Amino acid sequence: MFPGRLTDGYRAFLGGRFVNERTRYETLAETGQRPEIMVFGCVDSRVSPEVIFDAAPGELLVVRNVANLVPTYESNRDSQHGTSAAVEFGVQALKVKHIVVLGHEYCGGIRAFADEQEPLSSGDFIGRWMSQIAPAAETLGPRGADGDAYLRRLEFASVELSLRNLMTFPYVRNKVEAGLLQLHGAYFGVATGKLLVRDPETGVFQPVKGDGSQRALPTIRCD
Ligand SMILES: [Zn+2]
Repeated sequence: MFPGRLTDGYRAFLGGRFVNERTRYETLAETGQRPEIMVFGCVDSRVSPEVIFDAAPGELLVVRNVANLVPTYESNRDSQHGTSAAVEFGVQALKVKHIVVLGHEYCGGIRAFADEQEPLSSGDFIGRWMSQIAPAAETLGPRGADGDAYLRRLEFASVELSLRNLMTFPYVRNKVEAGLLQLHGAYFGVATGKLLVRDPETGVFQPVKGDGSQRALPTIRCD
């Protein structure tokens, strides 16, 4: 049976947000989508980019996977590359101007890697997927005694890794170097709602500036 929570939610949407944004939906249907911002987020149910950035339909091209990772560019045609297909679509077809890798606090995928958790199935899809952050872990050195602090550092380091991996896509690199595309890192604090944005000059993640009345979205537009 289809979950009642969803039919209830859909009715609320239809009577509320859809009414308010009907013109936008109709325009998007006629003209097609033209989002300028692409976000790589985690599948974590607490970290929905559209909610965090208060985004309207058509504004954000969102890709979500375990631990918000972007793999390195691979030309191996025998494998499936869902996330890389999205990179190709966003950059080459939609010509997004910004790509944001949105990490977050308490990421289960990051923890699974750091704790070397047992596979959840014989396929070990999580283990194989998360193994790609090994280079990020190597930059941090041994875990030591500060278990949770290490996990937070690994969450940030994996955002850095995904930003580096994006630059291995030839068309991403070309557009970044031509000034047509900007890459950004960000990090969402689940408990506090705090958003940190990576300073491209220093690599330091800083709180979004503002007096509280600003929408978060324009703040990450660095143009
Ligand atoms: Zn996560």
